[in-house]
Amino acid sequence: MNKINNIDELLEELVTGKWHPKSANPIASSNYPGLNYSCGCGSNHTLSITDFLMIGPPAKFVFICDNDYLTGVRVKGIFKQKPYELWTCKKSLYLEAVEVFGSD
Ligand SMILES: [Zn+2]
Repeated sequence: MNKINNIDELLEELVTGKWHPKSANPIASSNYPGLNYSCGCGSNHTLSITDFLMIGPPAKFVFICDNDYLTGVRVKGIFKQKPYELWTCKKSLYLEAVEVFGSD
């Protein structure tokens, strides 16, 4: 998993990963029973009960946890799904990036 520490890298990821706000697809759901992802905060969280802020194709989510870490996760598999952690960053960096990202 890529640990993103600077705003340029995060902005590049938001663009190249084709991430969109969750509101772009209100029916998007992370309800994958039994799946957990390994978070940037060092804990594991359950996909189905963790909030996500952004979505991306084909089945990608940016989860936000109670410890203020964001983690981009891709879920792969048709019959048996498995999460793949893509990147992580702190919420504060994300908030800075969204100000830039959202302004153009
Ligand atoms: Zn966490």
